[in-house]
This record gives sequence, C-alpha cells and structure tokens, in this order.
Amino acid sequence: MAEANNTPYPYEAPVSQGLFDRASVVTPGGVNSPVRAFRAVGGTPRFMVSGTGPYLTDADGREYVDLVCSWGPMILGHSHPEVIAAVQAAVARGTSFGTPGEGEVALAEEIVDRIAPVEQVRLVSSGTEATMSAIRLARGFTGRAKVIKFAGCYHGHVDALLAAAGSGVATFGLPDTPGVTGAQAGDTIVLPYNDIEAVRAAFAAHPGEIACVITEASPGNMGVVPPRDGFNAGLKAVCQENGALYISDEVMTGFRTSKAGWFGVDGVVPDLMTFGKVMGGGFPAAAFGGRADVMAHLAPAGPVYQAGTLSGNPIATAAGLAQLRLLGDAEYGVVDAVSEQLRGLVTEALSKEGVAHRVQNASNMFSVFFTEDEVKDYDDAKAQESFRFTPFFHSMLAQGVYLPPSAFESWFVSTAHDERAVERIAAALPAAARAAAEATA
Ligand SMILES: *Cc1c(COP(=O)(O)O)cnc(C)c1O
Repeated sequence: MAEANNTPYPYEAPVSQGLFDRASVVTPGGVNSPVRAFRAVGGTPRFMVSGTGPYLTDADGREYVDLVCSWGPMILGHSHPEVIAAVQAAVARGTSFGTPGEGEVALAEEIVDRIAPVEQVRLVSSGTEATMSAIRLARGFTGRAKVIKFAGCYHGHVDALLAAAGSGVATFGLPDTPGVTGAQAGDTIVLPYNDIEAVRAAFAAHPGEIACVITEASPGNMGVVPPRDGFNAGLKAVCQENGALYISDEVMTGFRTSKAGWFGVDGVVPDLMTFGKVMGGGFPAAAFGGRADVMAHLAPAGPVYQAGTLSGNPIATAAGLAQLRLLGDAEYGVVDAVSEQLRGLVTEALSKEGVAHRVQNASNMFSVFFTEDEVKDYDDAKAQESFRFTPFFHSMLAQGVYLPPSAFESWFVSTAHDERAVERIAAALPAAARAAAEATA
C-alpha cells in the first residue's frame, strides 16, 4: 500500500478528478448514487481503489480512515479475510443459477434465528426492493391503499416513498422528485417523526384506508434521530387498533445496532421488517420478512406477486452469511465501544472550539448535528448550521478521514477500527473543529 501522502487543506486529487471527468461524460453527475457526488460539500469525489480493515485508498494513493463503511454494510471492516474466503469459494462454484440453492436457505435461517418476529423471509437484491415489496404485500394483505411514512425517513427510491425522504433528497433540498406522479404519491401520508398524536389523527381521518405505517426502526437518513421512548411501541399499538400493519425498516439498523438490530434494542414486534446493508456483507443482498400469515400472501404461496432474477444470488448470500456468522455479542461490543470513543472525541474537539453541536446515537450509529437542541424530527435536523459541516468535512478529508459527505448522514464504524485508526481521527479533529468554528453561513 502507498504511504499516505496526505497534505493540509486545500489539496488536489488529480487522478480522482480525471476519473470524475470521464465518469461525468458517460454517467449523469458522474456517479451511480447521488450522495457520492459531493454536491453537498463541493470538491472532487474520491474514487476508491481498495479497502483493508478501517482504511480506504483512493486513486491518488491517499489512505483514509473510513467512517462511511459503504453506508453501513462493512461492519467487519474492508476485505475481512473470512468473508473474502467465503466469496472466493462461492465464485469458484459459479455465479448464478436461477434455481434455488442452499446458501439462500442458510441465510434465511440465520435471519429467522436472530430476529424473533421474522417467521419467514424473502430475499431480494436491494433495500429499495425490500421496502417496495413489503408495502405491496401490506396493501395486498389488508386490501387498503394508504401508507403512512415519516418526513426524513428514507426507504430507498420507491416512488410512493419519495416524499420528504431525507438524506440524499434532503442534501439536495428537493422537497419532492419529478417523475413521481400524483397518483403514485397520493396514497402516501407524510407525518412528522416522533409525533404519535399525528399518527392517531391520520388514522382517525382515514378510517379503514391505511394499509401500513412504515418507519425506520431508528432513523439514520436525516442524521441519527432515535425514536423517543414509547414511540415505536405506540406505532405498533395504533396499527393494531386499526387493522394496519407496522413495517419496521431495518435496512440500516438491521444486524448493525445489535445482533438482532433495533428489534434487539427496543423489543417492539413489527408485522413486517426490511433488511439490507450489513446482511449482504458488501454484496447486493436484502430481505423482507415477518409474520408467516402475512408472508403466506406472497407468490407463489399466495397472490401478491414479487420476484427477482438475482434474488438469493449465491455469491451475495455467501458473503452475507459469512459476515453474519462472524457477528456475535463480542463484536457488537467492539463496534459500540469504538462508536462511544469517537462520540467523546468529537464532542471534546467541538466543545473546545465553542461550536454548538449535538452528537446523537442509536447504539453504534451516530451523527453530529451543528445545533445545541435535541433533534427529534426532520425539521429540527434541517434547522442545524449545516454550513459548518463543509469545512469540517474537508478538513477531515485532507487529514485522511473519510466522513459521509453530507451533514444528514449517520457515521459508521466497524470491528476493524483499532487504536491506530482512532488516533488518526483524534489527531484530525482539532483542526476540523476549528474550521467549523470559523465557518460563516
Ligand atoms: C439504505 C436504505 C434503504 C435502501 O436500500 P438500497 O439497498 O440502497 O436500495 C432503505 N431503507 C433504509 C432505512 C436505508 O437506510
């Protein structure tokens, strides 16, 4: 690996810039997922060429401590030897068969074993497919059309759910997206997060019409905004009283916030759950599952259609299974401890510079808001001084720390974030905090 050639801000990334220029000719905005384009922070998106443990190396030969971890999946760090070995063994047997295979069964069993409310599960290839299919199933099961979601919660780029959807959408300040028709979004009711009275009022206004409430189990897509005590339990109760399904989207929190995800933290039993990110071990594997009587409505067992050419792909399931089998209580203890240490370091650095801030966490997921007030919903998140994030981000980047390139994202750590990685972050924070303090709107 090249010696890290990190130099103080400002700095250049000529090889990444050349790749970005090429990419921008053949790909809209030069990227395949918007937040990667650095639009919120400016500058040249880094094209990564390799990852090992807690480190990424870009095309210019710079090494970064990675606090994105592929937006959550890489909870064991990059290139974990046992995951790589499982992938290599699977690849050697062939890459896709279009038939059932044992790997899918083993991964489904692992999920069902870990998460009590999941009696049956269907594998898909992305979190978006998981939430889209769960909503279709909820509508098919209940025979109702309307869906409640919360402002700032992101459930993938499902048409009906791209209303007040946080993160990528929040970053670009789009209240909505062209291409989603009134008909597609018209059955979506968007409510403020953490406001159970608003949910009760919506059910009262639409008796017998609401199929489901979908919520991030603990939101991470408007920054980390955990549910207040009793909020998820309240959602479950309101759904039950009204014959609607409670869908907990654990694509981000699943297998990350504990062995059993956020369910393992708050114990509220959903009717349906969605998973992705960590369960794929860095490959496209995702899932939705839950009550067997609901899942029985899914084709070919039942009438609600859902399918996928690469669903349960043997490489993806091998990677996911290998990663999940390496994740026991001890590993979550390590990730939680690293997260706690980093939260302390960030708080210390920002406090020293007198920067108004608030670090919020949901077990090991955390984010830094540039405000002193509690962030309980999307409006609170948007009210932060996000102009302070840009210089903070670029200072960290110049010093070899790769943060999510937006003020509305969770930071992610892994079991591989060791003392050396934490020391590099600690060394970078004072200058970044100073840059945040000096920022002007
Ligand atoms: C990432 C995410 C999704 C979408 O998953 P993709 O694999 O990107 O389609 C859905 N819900 C939540 C909560 C997520 O964080």
